[in-house]
Formats: sequence, C-alpha cells, structure tokens
Amino acid sequence: MGSYSGDNDIIIIGAGICGLATALALHRKGIGSVVLERADSLRASGAAIDIHTNGWRALDQLGVGPTLREKANRIYVVRHVSLDNGMTREVLYGNEEYRNLVRSDLIQALFDGLPPRTVHFGCHIVQVKTDPVTSQSVLHFDDGSVATAKILIGCDGVNSIVAESLKLKPTRSSHTGVLQGLTNYPNGHGFGNDFILMKKGHVIVGRNPIGNKLVHWFIFQTRLPEDYGISGKPEIIREAALELIKGFPPEMTELAENSLLDSFTFTKIRYRAPWDLLLGNLHRGTVTVAGDAMHVMGPFLGQGGAAGLEDAVVLGRCLAKAMQMDRNGDYDGKQLATRVGLALVEYVKERRMRVTRLSMQTYLNGLLMATSSGFTSGLIVFVLKTIWWRT
Ligand SMILES: Cc1cc2nc3c(=O)[nH]c(=O)nc-3n(C[C@H](O)[C@H](O)[C@H](O)COP(=O)(O)OP(=O)(O)OC[C@H]3O[C@@H](n4cnc5c(N)ncnc54)[C@H](O)[C@@H]3O)c2cc1C
Repeated sequence: MGSYSGDNDIIIIGAGICGLATALALHRKGIGSVVLERADSLRASGAAIDIHTNGWRALDQLGVGPTLREKANRIYVVRHVSLDNGMTREVLYGNEEYRNLVRSDLIQALFDGLPPRTVHFGCHIVQVKTDPVTSQSVLHFDDGSVATAKILIGCDGVNSIVAESLKLKPTRSSHTGVLQGLTNYPNGHGFGNDFILMKKGHVIVGRNPIGNKLVHWFIFQTRLPEDYGISGKPEIIREAALELIKGFPPEMTELAENSLLDSFTFTKIRYRAPWDLLLGNLHRGTVTVAGDAMHVMGPFLGQGGAAGLEDAVVLGRCLAKAMQMDRNGDYDGKQLATRVGLALVEYVKERRMRVTRLSMQTYLNGLLMATSSGFTSGLIVFVLKTIWWRT
C-alpha cells in the first residue's frame, strides 16, 4: 500500500464522514491537518444516510449545508406498517429538519471543502504508539514507514486502532444485520415523499425516496445468528435480500430486484456499549477519537453520522482556542501540548454525556425492534418517552 512519513502538527486517521468533517472544521478555523486513509480513493460505505436537525446544524457550521440541501429529500412523515397485525402508525417530522441523501454526495461535499493534498489515500496505519521522550504519537504503516503527530485524532471507525491505544473497551457484535441499496426509476418512482417502514416477523424493510427517481431501501434482520455473514459480492447480497424480503408486497420486493448492483451493501451491526462510553478513556494527552471510533451505534435512531458531525464541530472549536494562542507566539511546543490536552478535556466533557445518551436511546430502540414481548416493548417505550424522546 501507499506510504506517508514526516512530522505533523495534526493527523486525522480515516477519511469517512467524521474524519473529513473534522479536517474541514479545523480548516474553517484556519488550522491545517493531514487526513490519512487506508483505502485507495474516497468511498462511502452504505447507500444513503438520514440526517436530523442536529446534523444539518453541524453541516451548516461546516459550510456545506446549503449545497447538500439541494440534493437531499425532506422527510415529513415516517409510516410504520406491521404486516403481522395490519397496524399502521405515523410519526410526523414537520417540525424538524429531517432529510436523506446519497452518502457519496455527503462525503464528496466534505472532501471538496478541503484544501488540496489534505487527504492521503493508501495509508494503512497498523500501530499507534507514544514517544516516551516527546510524548508525540508515532504512527507505523503497513509498508514499514513511520510518521509522527503532535495531535492525533482517530476517526478510524468501528475497529479503531486509536480507540484501542486509548484502551477503550472493544465494540460489541449485535444480532442485527442491514442489507441496503439504491434503486433508480428512470421514469419516476411514483412513491411520493414518504418514508415507509414495514415489519414482518423479525424483518423490517424500509423505503425512503431521494428525489423523484431514486429510492433508498434497506432490510433489517434483527435476529441473526452469531456467525451470520454475507460475502461483500453484490450478487450474493442481492440473493440474501430477495430471500429475506419474500412475503412483502411486490413494490417492496422489486426494489431489491431492480437495485443498482454496485450500491448493495451488507453490514453486521456493532456498537460501543453506552456504559463503556460513559466510563471509558476518550482521550489521553493530545490523542482522542471521534465519530464511530468513539461511539459506534446501531442505525435504529439514525444518529451515528450526525453525532460524528457534531464531534467534528466541537473538536474544531476546542482545538482552535488552544492553537490560536500558539500561532500568536505565546506558547512553546510543550505548552502547546498542555493547552491541547486541556482542549481535549473540554471536548470530551462536552461530548461524553451527549453521545452516551444517543447511544443509550439507540440501544433501547434496537431492543424495541427486536422484541416480540408486549411487556418488554411497553417498558422500553415508557423509558424512552419519559427520559428521552427528541434528539
Ligand atoms: C446500516 C447503517 C445505517 C446508518 N444510517 C444512518 C443514518 O441514517 N443517519 C446517521 O446519522 N447515521 C447512520 N449510520 C451511522 C453512520 O453511517 C456512521 O456513524 C458514520 O458513517 C461513521 O463515520 P466515521 O467517519 O466515524 O467512520 P467510517 O465511515 O467507518 O470511516 C472510517 C474511515 O477510517 C478508515 N480507516 C480505518 N482504519 C484505518 C487505519 N488503520 N488506517 C487508515 N485508515 C483507516 C476507513 O477506511 C474509513 O474510511 C448508519 C450506519 C449503518 C451501519
């Protein structure tokens, strides 16, 4: 794979939503950074993403909200349909900004906001250590090269090596898998704007249009065996999707049948337990984590990506305060490390309760989707309504 070396002020590992957003947040404060990504090019795993008000607020602060709104579909109502008992329920979103968009549009907009040569592809970091003398982070790459960073931000997703270096408890496997894709209807889909969720047994199928021609669809299977896996091949994911969707109305099954082959993905959901987030080390010295690397959660609330965008904005603000003083020449390197350390304490203080709460809500929503016990679901709904409801 590619290589990278040198001494850097700020290295961000991972060019996903959070890594790009963090680099952009810093750039907008006049601070340069380097983003190191192991893939060979920009890529968006997953077909589309729903963003709630908090995410749009963050995107506006990053300067990409207006462009992305033009490509996103506003969702006013989510219709829940049970094929088991025929019940239908509507959740209205008229009072909040809730939109979905193609993931690659989001990733591209964040990337386009960055100065050239900020993101370096083909850089696979295999180990992160701390230099005992300088306290800087030392990054080892798969080709043997080495780079150092005064400040290291791990936006390296669910299997983060930066989280591991902070000794955060490992993420956990869930029993839920998600298959998804995009289907194009050249003559228009005619489904209107509504987001529909249909449930039959332990399978939930979602249909979420983006504009007049494109539809994002997904299938949640909430009781997967521990060792369940599907190879990454789109044809095999399509076969699995068609099998799971049997017995659903034809307009739902045809979504998977006609889906764009290169848009198929399968994800076995992992999560960081809310209590591990509450109690874990989210930073050490000038090293921290953001996005899924910190708080990967299931998709049951549609908040993982938006929480990563929030992280980016807060990190940008906290680090800018610390580094501003240094650019004025008021602090030497050692004092900078101290100031950045304090800035990261502030960042973690601001984020910990917020992401623990979102993660707990997501966890409870996941339990609600999986349970078939009326008592358990009543209890979960009571807790959600009493303690948390809106994000
Ligand atoms: C099925 C599903 C549906 C979802 N729906 C929504 C939704 O509707 N709304 C929402 O807000 N969120 C949603 N989420 C959550 C959202 O997708 C994630 O929270 C978000 O994509 C995480 O972005 P990230 O940048 O933190 O991590 P990632 O996207 O995982 O990016 C990490 C990057 O780091 C790179 N990397 C990893 N390790 C290394 C290494 N050692 N060296 C170099 N590079 C490395 C990876 O290649 C990758 O590019 C959903 C998640 C799933 C699974």
